[in-house]
Amino acid sequence: MTPPDTARLQQLDRDHHLHPFTDFKALGEEGSRIITSAEGIYIQDADGNQILDAMAGLWCVNLGYGREELVTAAAEQMQQLPYYNNFFKTTHPPAVELAETLCRLAPAHMNRVFFTGSGSEANDTVLRMVRRYWALKGKPEKQWIIGRENAYHGSTVAGMSLGGMAPMHEQGGPCVPGISHIRQPYWFGEGRELSAEEFGKVCAAALETRIEELGADKVAAFIAEPVQGAGGAIIPPDSYWPAIKEVLAKYDILLVADEVICGFGRLGEWFGSVHYGIEPDLMPIAKGLSSGYLPIGGVLVGDRVASTLIDEGGEFYHGFTYSGHPTCAAVALKNLQLMEQEGVVEHVRDVAGPHLARRWKELEQHPLIGEARSLGLIGALEIVADKASGKRFDKTLAVGNLCRDICFETGLVMRSVGDTMVISPPLVITTEQVDELVRLAHAALDETMRRLEQQGVT
Ligand code: PMP
Repeated sequence: MTPPDTARLQQLDRDHHLHPFTDFKALGEEGSRIITSAEGIYIQDADGNQILDAMAGLWCVNLGYGREELVTAAAEQMQQLPYYNNFFKTTHPPAVELAETLCRLAPAHMNRVFFTGSGSEANDTVLRMVRRYWALKGKPEKQWIIGRENAYHGSTVAGMSLGGMAPMHEQGGPCVPGISHIRQPYWFGEGRELSAEEFGKVCAAALETRIEELGADKVAAFIAEPVQGAGGAIIPPDSYWPAIKEVLAKYDILLVADEVICGFGRLGEWFGSVHYGIEPDLMPIAKGLSSGYLPIGGVLVGDRVASTLIDEGGEFYHGFTYSGHPTCAAVALKNLQLMEQEGVVEHVRDVAGPHLARRWKELEQHPLIGEARSLGLIGALEIVADKASGKRFDKTLAVGNLCRDICFETGLVMRSVGDTMVISPPLVITTEQVDELVRLAHAALDETMRRLEQQGVT
């Protein structure tokens, strides 16, 4: 029986609340799950169920839930100065301290940051900053930005245009002009007739081909996530990033590494770009910057772009009311300090990441799983109808969603992207909790199979 308060909230939710990325009608018929509290890596719903949050909220609660230090940082800053802006020659201590800390943690050639309220706003900033840079360099015709199919860079108009999610492009268009998409380095989904190594090179060659089609003198930048998150935790073949780097250097094109998910320890380094040894010109950031406790994002800017903007720029007509919001900045600063003090990035790199890699790979033995991959604390499972050929289930069966719903029922948040199951747990997860996660995932796969058998599918 649903408790009365849950039923009341569900009804009010149905009546008044339009959720993000949601089929409103379908949710109205089903009703929402109401999350009321959380601690560590577990969330709790209004019915009293405890659920292991293997998605860290939306890839963001890196330090886990219930950190008093972050609550205190917010409360103290709100008492001291809840809001002031960074416009008109003013600033405040949290924004300055956070900027310094971020630039210290970022690769050596990145020494400036522009703050935003979210990852989407960070990518809007990227689009304007990249085109501004080339205009200042006397090459205003360098306008094209190349992104990738199935990439996610946000839900604002520029964010969704830079992203490569076809269903998003189909709604509310047209997209921002001057953005072109190339294929993604998704070996399991699109490249298994080649070795991963060869496939990575083929995908990088697609960048060179596109640059030549558009004209190198017209291409401003390439934008990509080091590991695609929302697209399905797509870890590129090792050959991919070195080949991309070469192409960009050859044609003098800026690299934008979207670190909104990969930044702040997810891959076992402070930034995903460091893991792959790429040196981006711009890095949009958000999510783990504050462990999701308050909304804040930004763009880390490399010296090459920053020096042009500063020395030759004049006014950059861009910014947000909440750029560098003092309370959000104070929480982000405390979050980064705690991560440093507690060695969270090292924990991912040396302990939790390698342990997950071993345990996660065991799931490949499951009859439903065609591939189990992970890097640091991001991972994916490819659900297939036939292990040998990698053939998928009929799309109408929505097996990924079935598995996701079973996970929720059995105490695990795992996300589905089509028939790819994705995890991105809080970075503070212990090895015992990794074992628990894998056990829950295994049980959910068994139950998914049982229900498919019941339907006569397998
Ligand atoms: N870039 C990437 C890589 C993301 O994963 C996301 C959010 N999932 C965004 C940008 C957009 O961030 P936000 O939702 O904070 O606008």
